[in-house]
Amino acid sequence: IKIKITKIDIPVAFASAFEGEIIRRGDMQVEFDGSRVDCFELVQAKEATEIEDHKIEVIGPDFDEFEVGSKQSIAYIVEVAGKNMQSDFEPVFERKFHSYINCIEGVMHTGQRDMIRVRVSKDTFNAGFRAKHIGEVLYAKIKSEFAAVVDKCQVKVITDAAECTKLRSELAVPSYDKRDERLSTLTDEGVDVYYSCIMCQAFSPSHVCVVTPERLGLCGAVSWLDAKATNELDPQGPCQVITKGGLIDERTGSYQDVNDAVKKYSQGALETVTLYSIIEDPMTSCGCFECICGIEPLSNGVCIANREYAGMTPIGMTFPELASMTGGGVQTPGFMGHGKHFIASKKFMKAEGGVGRIVWMPKDLKDQVAEKLNATAKELYNIDNFVDMIGDETVAEDPETLLAYLEEKGHPALSMEPMM
Ligand code: SF4
Ligand code: ZN
Repeated sequence: IKIKITKIDIPVAFASAFEGEIIRRGDMQVEFDGSRVDCFELVQAKEATEIEDHKIEVIGPDFDEFEVGSKQSIAYIVEVAGKNMQSDFEPVFERKFHSYINCIEGVMHTGQRDMIRVRVSKDTFNAGFRAKHIGEVLYAKIKSEFAAVVDKCQVKVITDAAECTKLRSELAVPSYDKRDERLSTLTDEGVDVYYSCIMCQAFSPSHVCVVTPERLGLCGAVSWLDAKATNELDPQGPCQVITKGGLIDERTGSYQDVNDAVKKYSQGALETVTLYSIIEDPMTSCGCFECICGIEPLSNGVCIANREYAGMTPIGMTFPELASMTGGGVQTPGFMGHGKHFIASKKFMKAEGGVGRIVWMPKDLKDQVAEKLNATAKELYNIDNFVDMIGDETVAEDPETLLAYLEEKGHPALSMEPMM
C-alpha cells in the first residue's frame, strides 16, 4: 500500500502561492549560486537495497555556519528506487525541483542541473529552516507526486564545497552528458512515435507542441525523451503519443496523424501543422519560447533572437516585439518560437533549406550553439566555421549592413531559392 504524503516537516509554509516570491539581496541569509561556485541537483535511480526510505543526510556545514549574505555551494542528490522506475524519468523529476523549492516560503530557486541558484531569506532562516529541510521537501514531493514509480527515496544535501566540486565533476556532469548523448543519437526517422505536449494550454488554450527527437518543445525544457517519460508516468497527462501514419510531404514534415492529433488536442483550433517548415503551416507558439526566428527578406534568411537578448534585430523588432506577434497559439507564417537546441538540428527549417538560412543571431547565442551548429552545417553543406558567417549585434542591427556582411562572407542563404 502506498501512502500519499501531504504534510511536509518544515518550519515554514509550503504553497504554490510562494512560487513567484523574490528574495532580494538584502533579505537573504545565504545564497547558493551555481554560476559562481559548484552546485547541482540530481536524481538517480538506484536498486531498492541501496536506499533507506526517508533518510535525509546533510554533508557539510549547516546554514548557521555561513556568513550572512554569502555565496556558498550546495548539491542535492535524490536517490529513488521502484519496480517501475526508469532512468529516463530522472530528468522529469529533476525539472520539478524548481517548482518544489520555490513553493517553500522564503526560498527562491532558479535554473537547473549545475546552473542553479537558491536563496534562503533571513526570516525563513530565523524560523528554523536548515539544509535538511530542502531534503524533506524533495522527499515528500517526489514520494507523493511519483508514487506510481517511486517506492523508496533518500536525499543527500551537500554543503561541503570540496565535496560539491568533486561530485559535480565525477557524478553530476557525466550523468547529464549521458542523458544528452542518448538524445543526440535519436532521429525523427528512427523512432516510431512522436509526442504532443499541451502543458501550456493553461495560458495558451489552443497551443500544442509536437515533440520529436530532433525538435524539442519550444520552451527548451521538454525533449522527446522527457515527453515519453511524462506519458509513461501519467498516461492521461499532458503528453500523448502521436503515431507517424499518413505521410503527406516528407520535405515539410507533414503527416495526417500529426494533423489529426493537433486538431484533437487544440480542440479544433488548428488543423494542419508541419514539423519542419516556418512558412507552410508552421507549429504554433505559446509564450515560453526560448528563441524566435523570423524572416529577414533582404538577405533571404532568418534572424533568431533569444529571450535574454535586449537589443534590436535586423528585422526591425526586439525580442518582446517579435514575441507579441508570435505567441498565443496561432500560426504566423514566417515567424516561429523554438528551443535553443533546435538551432543546430538538421530539421531546423528543413523545408526551406535548413540551418543555412540563419543569417543573424545575438553574439551570446552564437557562442552557446556554435559547436553543434558548425557541425550541422559541415554535414549539410560542407561549410567550415559556419557560425562566423552569421551576423550579430556587433556586426549589424539593420538589414543593409547585415547584407553587406553576408556578401563579404559568402553566406549560403544568398544563393538559396527565394523564401517568399
Ligand atoms: Fe510543453 Fe514546452 Fe510546448 Fe509548453 S512549450 S506545450 S511545456 S513542450
Ligand atoms: Zn509555453
